[in-house]
Amino acid sequence: MHAARQDAFAKTAATLIKNLEKRNIEGYYCPTSADAVELVRTLVPEGASVTWGGSETLAETGVKALLTSGPYRVIDRSRATTPEEQRAVWRERTCADFHFMSANALTVSGEIVNIDGNADRLSLLLHGPEHVIMLVGANKIVTDVDAGIKRTRTHACPPNASRLHTNTPCELTGVCRECHAPQCMCCQVVVTRHSRHTGRIKVVLIGEDLGF
Ligand code: SF4
Repeated sequence: MHAARQDAFAKTAATLIKNLEKRNIEGYYCPTSADAVELVRTLVPEGASVTWGGSETLAETGVKALLTSGPYRVIDRSRATTPEEQRAVWRERTCADFHFMSANALTVSGEIVNIDGNADRLSLLLHGPEHVIMLVGANKIVTDVDAGIKRTRTHACPPNASRLHTNTPCELTGVCRECHAPQCMCCQVVVTRHSRHTGRIKVVLIGEDLGF
């Protein structure tokens, strides 16, 4: 990232952290992914159970590598191969100590915008795991909720559709058509505006462009 952009984002992050605090959400600023990995290492105690939702940011930052190789009890949904195993892993995940995810967008006033199809990662954000840690790159910051929804449908859904082969208009044309296709990824639009549980949601702002 250009030095001027990095400098500006550090200031944006400082403002955002204050705005998140008003929403009872903890904010952290890390200039780089490497700093974010070290922060996560300090936030998650050894032996804690950890799980995550689909996220390119987790892989790009190196946080997923930390979780899978570190001293944690990993609850990985990809290990389930049958419907029965998937139900069993889901039950474990809902009681995890830590759930990791990114956000589709974060407004400058601290509203967290997410859009999902099955809503696996979002249901764990809303309720269940004791802690939720969100890793958010500088490219996810937007002015308001509407801009967050537009950002998601313009920049996140088309590449995700290509990755997942959803056969939706955004996969076939690269543009959202407000579809109701069988594999629509926009079934749930969730705006997190406040946390009732002190210390549960932590947002790590990273001074890099990460994920979609
Ligand atoms: S509404 Fe449909 S076409 Fe639009 S981004 Fe979502 S899945 Fe793609």
